Amino acid sequence: MSTTGRSARRLDRAPLMTNHLRIDGSYGEGGGQIVRSALALSLVTGRPVTVDNIRAGRPRPGLMRQHLTAVRAAVEICAGAVMGARLGSLSVTFEPRPVRPGSYCFRVGTAGSAALVLQTVLPALAIAGSPSQLTLQGGTDNPWAPPFDFLQQAFLPLLNRMGPRVTASLERRGFYPAGGGQFTVTVEPCAQLAGFQLHDRGPLVAHAVRALVANLPRQIADREVRTVLAKLGWDAPCGTAEQVTAHGRGNVVLVELHSQHVSEVFTGFGRLGVRAEHVAADVARQVTDYLESGAPVGPYLADQLLLPLGVSAWQTGAADRHRGGSFCTVPLTRHALTHIDLLRRFLEIDIRVAAADNGKTCCVSLLPP
Ligand code: AMP
Repeated sequence: MSTTGRSARRLDRAPLMTNHLRIDGSYGEGGGQIVRSALALSLVTGRPVTVDNIRAGRPRPGLMRQHLTAVRAAVEICAGAVMGARLGSLSVTFEPRPVRPGSYCFRVGTAGSAALVLQTVLPALAIAGSPSQLTLQGGTDNPWAPPFDFLQQAFLPLLNRMGPRVTASLERRGFYPAGGGQFTVTVEPCAQLAGFQLHDRGPLVAHAVRALVANLPRQIADREVRTVLAKLGWDAPCGTAEQVTAHGRGNVVLVELHSQHVSEVFTGFGRLGVRAEHVAADVARQVTDYLESGAPVGPYLADQLLLPLGVSAWQTGAADRHRGGSFCTVPLTRHALTHIDLLRRFLEIDIRVAAADNGKTCCVSLLPP
C-alpha cells in the first residue's frame, strides 16, 4: 500500500481487520500523546489502529502540524496506509506494514516540536532489523514537549540501557514561534528491548544550570542563572549563560542533574511579559520538588519511559527474564495515567502502580502478559 489518495480510499472501503484497535482520542489527558503513542504501538505490533475524537477538548481540536508530521512519519517508515491525515482531522486510521529502517528527514514546518515526531517512530526503529539515520526539523526547545537536552541527556541514556544505541546531535535550536531547529538521530537497533529496574537514583554526581538566549539580550540569561543558583544554593561555577544561534528569538533555562543511576533535565521557557526571575524560579522549584521526592524519575521522564518498558514487557524472545521492568517516580501525571491505559489496551501487558505510604512517590511495574 502507498500513502496516495487512491490507497487511502481503498482503506476507507476495506472492512476493519479483526485485530484493528479503536481508540477514543479524547479519553483521559486527551492530547497529542494518545495519537503519537497509538501510532508508535501500531508500528511496533503491526496492529492497525483508528484514533477518533483527536484532541477533541482542546481549543483547536484535531491534528495540528506537529501531529500531522508524526502521522506522515509513521506512514513513511513503513509505507503504510492512512486515512484522515490532514490538518484539523479528528480521526486517523493507520494500517502499518513492516518497518523499513533507513535515512529519513521529517519536517514539522512550524515551531511544533520535532522531538514529539521522533517519539512516534523511535520505538519501532529501535527494534528494527538494521540502523536508521533521522533528520528532524522544527522546534527543538518547546514548552509542553521534550526539549532537545532532555531527550539527549535524560531519555536516550535510559533507552540505550535497554539495548539499542541511539545518539542525537543538535545542529540548530528552534524556538517558538520561529522554529527552524534541526537535530539528527542515529539508531543502531537491537531485536529485543531489555527491561530495567530504576528504584534509586544514587548520589548526585554533577549538576549545572544553563540559560540560553537567541537574539535576545544576554543579561536575561545572566539573571536566570543567578536566580537558579541562589534558589538552589549552588556555587557560581555551576551556572553558564550562553548566546545561541536560532532563526528567531528564544530563551530556555535548563537544569541538569546527573545522579549515579539516572540523569534528569528540568526546563523553563522565557515568554514575553514574564520576568526572567520568574522563569528561573519555576525551574528551581521543579528541581527542588524532584530532589526532595527522592524518586529517580521525574514527571515527564515517567510518562515517556512507559512506552519502551511496555514494549520490552510485550516482546517475546530469548531474554525473557529481563522483559519489562519498574521505576520509582513522583505521583503520576494525567499524561502518564492515560498512557498506562493505552499500553494496557494495546499490548495487553500487566501494569501495576503502587503508591508509597507518604503519597509522595510511587512505583510503576510493567510486566509481561
Ligand atoms: P502532549 O501534551 O500530549 O502533546 O504530550 C507532551 C509530551 O511532552 C509528554 O510526553 C511530556 O512528558 C513531554 N514534556 C512536556 N514538557 C516537558 C518537559 N519540560 N521536559 C520533558 N518532557 C516534557
